[in-house]
Amino acid sequence: MPDGHRNLNFFFSHNSFIGSFYEIEKIPNVDLPEVCFIGRSNVGKSSLINSITKNKKLAKISKTPGRTQSINLYEIKKIINVIDLPGYGYAKVSKLTRDRLIILIESYLNLRTNLKMTYLLIDCKVGLKNSDIDFLDFLRSSNNFFSVILTKIDKCSKKLIEKQAFSLNTLLKQYGSKYRNIFLSSSKKNLGILDIQKDIYNLSKKV
Ligand code: GDP
Repeated sequence: MPDGHRNLNFFFSHNSFIGSFYEIEKIPNVDLPEVCFIGRSNVGKSSLINSITKNKKLAKISKTPGRTQSINLYEIKKIINVIDLPGYGYAKVSKLTRDRLIILIESYLNLRTNLKMTYLLIDCKVGLKNSDIDFLDFLRSSNNFFSVILTKIDKCSKKLIEKQAFSLNTLLKQYGSKYRNIFLSSSKKNLGILDIQKDIYNLSKKV
């Protein structure tokens, strides 16, 4: 089992982009375990996926928030799927687009049978917004395992990071037994990436 930083980087660097999907039934690889990443637009999701996979181009770092409106599937070593879900909570898209995205995200989370973990990204400096609370309420009802990743911690003081992590952890414990963990990360400074890689690697062994 790869337990060192280098071995995990090697494992995750065997990645490929499989495709973008707008219908859950069309997403392939249902026989592999899967994890997904979600969060508000601009939370740092593409940067984080690129840091985990050590591939600067895998998830295009969007210059326009809210542009990614499909479900993107990446495969790691033909062993585990990584799903990039569309960002939510971006005010500048039309209500119709927002509603369509919510339906797409909710049906993915309700219907994808091989999903092992949802990673909800929260910008450490911004904290929880109403759209995150709405999403957490949905997650609770969908009965999926989830963890939270506080992103961009390089922009925050140690005190703020501790405060955010503590209050989120306290809140999330009320979200039932499906809540697993809280991770602290910075793609810019490569902080906390190894812990997330380990978590995903361990999930890759789940059938
Ligand atoms: P997405 O919309 O959630 O996919 O977010 P992106 O990965 O495209 O990042 C949005 C913006 O945040 C970009 O300008 C990134 O350079 C910046 N960003 C992402 N991760 C970090 C980080 O760890 N630290 C800092 N300081 N900026 C980041």
